[in-house]
Amino acid sequence: MATTPHPTVGARGEGLAGVGPSLPYPVKAAVTRARSAAWFARTRGRPDMSGLRILLYHRVSDDDDVLALPPRRFREQMEHLASEGYRVVDLIEALALLEAGELPARTVGLTFDDGFADLAEHALPVLAEHGFRATVFVTTGVTDGRLAFPWYERQPRVLGWDEVVDLDRGGTMRFEAHTVSHPSLVAVDDAAADTEIRDSRLELESRLGRPVTAFAYPAGLFGDRERRLVADAGYTAAVSCEPGVIGPQSDRLALRRRQIDSRDRLLDFKAKVGGGHDTPLPMRAAYRRLRYGSKAGAPLRTSSRA
Ligand SMILES: [Zn+2]
Repeated sequence: MATTPHPTVGARGEGLAGVGPSLPYPVKAAVTRARSAAWFARTRGRPDMSGLRILLYHRVSDDDDVLALPPRRFREQMEHLASEGYRVVDLIEALALLEAGELPARTVGLTFDDGFADLAEHALPVLAEHGFRATVFVTTGVTDGRLAFPWYERQPRVLGWDEVVDLDRGGTMRFEAHTVSHPSLVAVDDAAADTEIRDSRLELESRLGRPVTAFAYPAGLFGDRERRLVADAGYTAAVSCEPGVIGPQSDRLALRRRQIDSRDRLLDFKAKVGGGHDTPLPMRAAYRRLRYGSKAGAPLRTSSRA
């Protein structure tokens, strides 16, 4: 349990072993604000429109949980994208546009990790209102109810299979795989990593009745072995938690995402969408190595390409 990392922090903050943040949260929020201000000063708020940026969310809820973005903030962020004329699409559609060379200048990919139930209540209506779409990565053993996320004392409800199937058919949310039990893939043996990657795809496909082609590495942690297993399992796209912009040449199995945090103000959001946060926070890699062990210095697979 203590070895299971998560991209941000556990429900109870920094004290929960093994599920810690990339940096202590107040420090992270302060550094984020400073970077957003620097971005605004540099660009006067004009977004960089080269390439594709994919945003990463977890929960949309007023719960006291650092993974939870308050619904009013989520609504404000989506209204901003709508008013600025952004096309907001799920991961698969974003990659199809990129592949076809038809990516509009203002395109953002939306992703939610872990499949929490509050998405149906607080994210879906906002997305539907604007005609936006999003990818939701689910951990099949937790969706199924036979497993729980290890970083919660009291886990918020996740979407069950009936809801996942209904929502997937609805078209606003498209569901993809995020392992069976949410382990740190880099910390388990070959057979376990292969099973987590492969079985989550099979289980999701059997529920949805359609091919599942995208995968999210838990906590964004992966190396060459995990990338190879993901390719062997038949996925054509996989996302990390490393920030950055995606271009036509980007590795489809190491796609970058920018996490939106619960404390982000609207300016932070604009800066993240606009290219002001395309590199990791200072000291993040060192902190993650300290926290998760030498193999976990992010990014494990460094890609200087966009
Ligand atoms: Zn996750």
